[in-house]
Amino acid sequence: MTVGRALSGAPRSRVKLLSLARHVSAIIAAGGRGLRFGGGPPKQLATLGGRTILQRSVDAFVTSDAVADIVVALPALLAADPPAYLRSRTKPVLIVGGGERRQDSVRQAFEQIGQRAEVVVIHDAARPLVTDALIRRTIDAAFETGAAIAALRASDTVKLADAAGRIAETLPRDRIYLAQTPQAFRVDVLRHALTSRADATDEAALAEQAGHPVQLVDGDPRNLKITTPDDLAIAERWLGGTTAGVPYAGIRIGNGYDLHRLVEGRPLVLGGVTIPFDKGLLGHSDADVICHAVTDAILGAAGAGDIGRHFPDTDAAWKDANSLDLLRRAAAIVAAGGYTVINVDVVVVAQRPRLAPHADAIRASVAGALGCDAFQVSVKGKTNEGVDSVGAGEAIAAHAVALLARAV
Ligand code: MG
Repeated sequence: MTVGRALSGAPRSRVKLLSLARHVSAIIAAGGRGLRFGGGPPKQLATLGGRTILQRSVDAFVTSDAVADIVVALPALLAADPPAYLRSRTKPVLIVGGGERRQDSVRQAFEQIGQRAEVVVIHDAARPLVTDALIRRTIDAAFETGAAIAALRASDTVKLADAAGRIAETLPRDRIYLAQTPQAFRVDVLRHALTSRADATDEAALAEQAGHPVQLVDGDPRNLKITTPDDLAIAERWLGGTTAGVPYAGIRIGNGYDLHRLVEGRPLVLGGVTIPFDKGLLGHSDADVICHAVTDAILGAAGAGDIGRHFPDTDAAWKDANSLDLLRRAAAIVAAGGYTVINVDVVVVAQRPRLAPHADAIRASVAGALGCDAFQVSVKGKTNEGVDSVGAGEAIAAHAVALLARAV
């Protein structure tokens, strides 16, 4: 955050240079043994709000602009046959087999980190509700200080027990912090910390033992570690609470439609995801029909005008605009009106290319811009059976509906 503030007045070229210099790699630790969870499948494969815990944790880093690439440490059996949702991503995701202990998994993942990485951010896959803001906070602090971890200040009074279960000491609560992940380190600091063979439950402990100061960063009480089925139930309720089970004063529906011509020599951008194809959509902006239709749907639902009113194509400011960014701005307009997105459903009409292989990436991308969860966004592809200009492959169209609610 501090870095962003310091740069806000800097010339554009300098901002770009500095942001390019910040290469951050992520390690998702999901490789431990004994990950049985209530006797069922491995804990990281339990489903939470329509996605596995593992997928949610990985998605948080895939959709974060602060992270360039990711290494996921999985149990050996899972690493040999990784779930499909870990493939075909918008940024490099490498899978490695985990080791005996968590720190062994992290060490094996660290060996796969590229030369360009300056900071490595490590996250425990068992914390699927991590937010982009927390990831950024931790990374920014690591750039400033070399090592940083998310942690929560204790709210209960903390007692140190003796071997007989009696209180040996009452610790000063204002100095007690409960460690979470993400934990982020400059590469040289982490390399040094991982040379230790001592047992540790997190990387910060290894860095401390190696003599590196570790900065505490405000954690997030909702960044819950899922260790029991009860934790999973709590997380389900929290997720549900953003969309259902909350009394709403007004439910409003909005409809959006857009169409752009397909031409040669342009990239095809749908829902903020660039899709390999020999043509792209023609328009003043990147002509992203999904973002435009969803933008109109949410603005329409909130009675807040339309895309042309907020981002007119007669205004040079929006020429070659990133439509995902326009959608993010529209979501902020709607949120300022007190509305929450309950769900968005999109139909894309395209004769070619096939949309299905990209649907998950598009859902995650659109959800990221809307500030909601990917399971609240649905994207479906249709052909036009060869009928009319869309069927002839001259254009792509998108229809979207959005349901918004205003919390009481
Ligand atoms: Mg448009």
